[in-house]
Amino acid sequence: MAAYDFEGHITDIPDYPEKGVVFKDITTLLKEPEGFHAAIDAIADHFKDAGVTKVVGAEARGFLIGAPVAYRLGAGFVPARKPGKLPREVRTESYELEYGTDELQIHVDALDEDDVVLIIDDLVATGGTAVAQAKLVSQYGCKLAGMGFLMELEFLHPREAIAKETDVDVFALVQVK
Ligand code: IMP
Repeated sequence: MAAYDFEGHITDIPDYPEKGVVFKDITTLLKEPEGFHAAIDAIADHFKDAGVTKVVGAEARGFLIGAPVAYRLGAGFVPARKPGKLPREVRTESYELEYGTDELQIHVDALDEDDVVLIIDDLVATGGTAVAQAKLVSQYGCKLAGMGFLMELEFLHPREAIAKETDVDVFALVQVK
């Protein structure tokens, strides 16, 4: 069977959300039953022997990929959310955006030191969101097993940013040069 053309099902949207940016729209891949299944299976398969107990996924597209990967791995799913969205006590990590800063939070009881965590997102660009999640996970003293993405914008060198924080296994299904 021919390999599924993941990249061919992700749509480039020029000048979105602002001029000069080419947004990668993954919804055109997710709506295809074969593409969605193959993508989740390929990411989960890469980490199948990593002993993952919890997958952390960031709001909002990280939920779309992280939750089914967690299900496939037999792991739990932990949402990392923007401030004020989670109803109970949280731990917080701030990170830099192009203009200003943002924060991600997870529930204080969502992870414990015995957990083996996998961070999943739809896309890694600068690596800032992934690094913030790695720092958040490190607050719990548990092991970070890896990071998995549907797409990596290699030309923004996210692996260099991630390597400054952690030497975990980074996997991307599609790499854009
Ligand atoms: P980073 O923090 O610069 O690595 O950006 C990654 C985060 O921004 C992820 O949570 C993505 O969901 C989101 N993101 C950035 N660019 C895109 C894009 O072109 N398509 C979809 N999501 C994007």
